[in-house]
Amino acid sequence: MFIVMVAPECAPVAKVGGLGDVVHGLSKELGIRGHAVEIILPKYDCMRYDRIHGLTMSYQDLWVPFYGQWIHCDVHFGWVDGLKCFFIDPHSPQNFFNRGVFYGHQDDGARFAFFCRAALEFMLKANKHPEIIHCHDWQTGLVPVLLYEVYQHLGMRHPRVCYTLHNLGHQGHQGEHILRQVGLNPGALTTPDRLLDDHRPGTVNLMKGGIVYSNFVTTVSPTYAHEVRHTHLGMGLQRILNVHERKFGGILNGVDYNVWNPEVDTHIARRYSIATVQDKYENKTALRQRLWLRHEFKPIVSFVGRLDHQKGVHLVFEAVPYCLNHGCQFVLLGSSPHGHINGLFWQLKQRFNDHPDCHLEIGYDEDLAHLIYAGSDLILVPSEYEPCGLTQIIALKYGTVPVVRNTGGLADTVFDANYAPRPYHERNGYVFNDYNWTGLESALRRAIGLWYSYPQHFRELMINGMRCDYSWNHPGRHYLNIYDYIREP
Ligand code: ADP
Repeated sequence: MFIVMVAPECAPVAKVGGLGDVVHGLSKELGIRGHAVEIILPKYDCMRYDRIHGLTMSYQDLWVPFYGQWIHCDVHFGWVDGLKCFFIDPHSPQNFFNRGVFYGHQDDGARFAFFCRAALEFMLKANKHPEIIHCHDWQTGLVPVLLYEVYQHLGMRHPRVCYTLHNLGHQGHQGEHILRQVGLNPGALTTPDRLLDDHRPGTVNLMKGGIVYSNFVTTVSPTYAHEVRHTHLGMGLQRILNVHERKFGGILNGVDYNVWNPEVDTHIARRYSIATVQDKYENKTALRQRLWLRHEFKPIVSFVGRLDHQKGVHLVFEAVPYCLNHGCQFVLLGSSPHGHINGLFWQLKQRFNDHPDCHLEIGYDEDLAHLIYAGSDLILVPSEYEPCGLTQIIALKYGTVPVVRNTGGLADTVFDANYAPRPYHERNGYVFNDYNWTGLESALRRAIGLWYSYPQHFRELMINGMRCDYSWNHPGRHYLNIYDYIREP
């Protein structure tokens, strides 16, 4: 099968969060299974160009219609970890992708609406005839809309679209003008059964457009798929997801075990496996050395992730002093696009600046993330909601015990040591229900207690986690079944 991914991110060149990992990991898995995969991305100025090999001009003079004008683009080709990637580079006065950051601009709607139109124009002009176009999140929601409303009439009749929702917290709410900009007729499309937002009068919802116009819609875990249809976590999309329930399902993300695996990881101090799990502690020593923490008989509790409300940052904020007062060391790696959240964590960092058991690293550091997964004993993921969550899945592989909230993909991957209705050998962490400090404290206390009082049992939990298989093998098969189901007979 020929599959084209249209995505705003792909690890490791353009990664903000899990979406980038998923585009990379799923594409590799599909390639291993013998399918032809190509990825279309914006050519951001802030990409990791050192991770792109053989970057060359692939298509010159692509003219993309946008708001009654034609915008001149070049398309570059390069290999990213063996994946074929095309990068769209518009030469527009708006400088869409040369902003130094991936997201966070007033005109993000226009930037990615343009990207959708340009990706389709490129496929048309370059004579690409994929059987499947796989789109990701609100940024690419207009791809199936444009395909159906415009490009099938220009000859692109074959592709079917699979659309994956990575996070319903960002849906792409825009004014009607966004449709006009890409050459669509707002009159016909801004109806409740198409792109009109259910709760914001006069607002176009790009994710809703993707849901309505795609042949199949997935989200990134079975529990989240249920939550978004039946609870407030649908964030206004519950009705339309229920209307389209027959083409909607949840597939748990995988993790690329060539990258995230303590047996092969080149970023860590000492590699280890289940058989040599005691070698993990050399990474604990290395982590302490790197972050100037003292060497004492204590567990390291960590947090790695975006510092966003969704991630339960106020709970992390409380967890730091709690852990330090309860015999633990604390390591945090995270950054936030929100100035005030960053500011709060900078204050916390100053408060514990000289503390020998605490290090808060505010920023993005892929290398350090590997060492934290390998060197920690416990990792916190106290999210308010979590579509899938890769942090806990990666941590499991590294024998780092996750302490998570019972929501979304966290509920599908972490099973409580004391209370899970599962056999002991499948229990791999700690889970709490209530999204408040009492909830997190109850799980954290049990976890720290086990580390100190029953080290043998703690080690069993670690091993149970390391044994889990969250590779792309299963999800790869599920996605292929969907592609097969929707593609033209
Ligand atoms: P989300 O997609 O909501 O950000 P996920 O848990 O799905 O969350 O994916 C997060 C990914 O990003 C993981 O691979 C995690 O290790 C990585 N990550 C998040 N923040 C940082 C950071 N500050 N430095 C390095 N890696 C990070």
